[in-house]
Amino acid sequence: SRAINPHKNEDDFTYDATLRPRALEEYIGQEKIKGNLGLFIDAAKGRGESLDHVLLYGPPGLGKTTLANIIACEMGVSIKSTSGPVIERPGDLAAILTNLEPHDVLFIDEIHRLSHVVEEILYPAMEDFQLDIIIGQGPSARSIKLDLPHFTLVGATTRAGLLSSPLRDRFGVISRLEFYTCEELATIITRSSRILGIGIEPQGAEELARRSRGTPRIANRLLRRVRDFAQVRAEGVITRSVVQNTLKLLEIDEMGFDHMDCRILLTIIDKFGGGPVGLDTIAAAISEESDTIEDVYEPYLIQNGFLNRTPRGRVATLAAYQHFGRIAPQGAQA
Ligand code: ADP
Repeated sequence: SRAINPHKNEDDFTYDATLRPRALEEYIGQEKIKGNLGLFIDAAKGRGESLDHVLLYGPPGLGKTTLANIIACEMGVSIKSTSGPVIERPGDLAAILTNLEPHDVLFIDEIHRLSHVVEEILYPAMEDFQLDIIIGQGPSARSIKLDLPHFTLVGATTRAGLLSSPLRDRFGVISRLEFYTCEELATIITRSSRILGIGIEPQGAEELARRSRGTPRIANRLLRRVRDFAQVRAEGVITRSVVQNTLKLLEIDEMGFDHMDCRILLTIIDKFGGGPVGLDTIAAAISEESDTIEDVYEPYLIQNGFLNRTPRGRVATLAAYQHFGRIAPQGAQA
């Protein structure tokens, strides 16, 4: 599996849980979101009410699930977690909703993947805390209304643009998570090392942070590989050179790019004269899904100025040419 794919894989489940901060105070970075949420949580608690529904969006691995858990913890309530594709029928959602306790958090990951019929159940549930379902079929079908406990829906999505506007409008708080700075990632890496009981030098943490694509999940995952290397080949302490050697083995370069990032950029440069070229064309050229390119690879490349998204397609920037030591055509975009 790709070491720097920010999506969760099997190994991440227990590992993620071990390293996940539990309180807002322990959650590093995302200062604006933290400030707002802290305020809203205190206010809701002060009034003895449930917190407004919260939508968190941003690339995978930036801490949406972690925040949902922290919200529940700070509110002193339980959290029930599920995800869009898992809730297949309206009855599935009805069962979850009727089992909530007052003020509980319901976390729906990948909320943009809810089916239309399920989404319709969610509207009155979010707005009026009412369940509106039809029981039976044909002439004997009847509609019933049930009161639900007041709860907080925390929705997470990699792409807020895919959410229908009636759903989006029902969230009181909408927050976009940003990529983390190197300093923030170094702090996260140092904290994780402490939990895992492995020594790390500040330069080691810094080097690893720089190559983690602004993403805590990737930082923690690379840390796990680096730890193995440090234990087997070095004196059990993560130094800068331990990081450099491990990442060389994993074929991750100084910018944190792996094989796939390089293929995307080099395909645009070599096969399509630097672009503009459509996303689907790139996807076909490298045999990867368009959605994966758009959700997983592109955000970091765009954020760091290696790729531009224009109305006519994707364009490799001057920085991309320079990164690969290629001569950029005249007029290459910055
Ligand atoms: P998402 O739901 O956005 O895909 P997660 O919440 O599962 O991401 O985060 C992935 C991992 O990254 C978590 O296990 C956690 O250890 C770590 N992490 C995420 N955000 C932070 C943060 N702000 N501070 C410390 N660790 C974090």
